Amino acid sequence: MSKIENTLASIVNNDGKHTSGQLQTTWFEHGDRVKRGLLKLGLFWLLSAASLPIIFAHWVLVPGFFIAGPWMGYRTYKITHRRDHVSGPCPSCQEEVIIKLEASDKLPKWTYCPSCKAPLHITPPEH
Ligand SMILES: [Zn+2]
Repeated sequence: MSKIENTLASIVNNDGKHTSGQLQTTWFEHGDRVKRGLLKLGLFWLLSAASLPIIFAHWVLVPGFFIAGPWMGYRTYKITHRRDHVSGPCPSCQEEVIIKLEASDKLPKWTYCPSCKAPLHITPPEH
């Protein structure tokens, strides 16, 4: 099972105005990480098998995917959490926005308001 955690984040625009938003993070438990890792391994070995009928290219693709499988599986296993999104009011246009994050994003992060395209700075809450 994975666990969803909501923490506070500040959304700051270029004029220094800030609003407070919610940062959603999904945390993976150990069993989940094993399952995700094995799925990734399976996917790569499936790609390896699927590359068999490709003439010439299979000399590279089959061992390539085969070797990449455990490595990618291990890398997936090492991922403990995923940043989902930040939601809150945009300090420029006051619109409630949801800003998608990359899984490995770290705060602070520069991004754009999906509504008014103002550059926004997402930071951890100020203490
Ligand atoms: Zn905006």
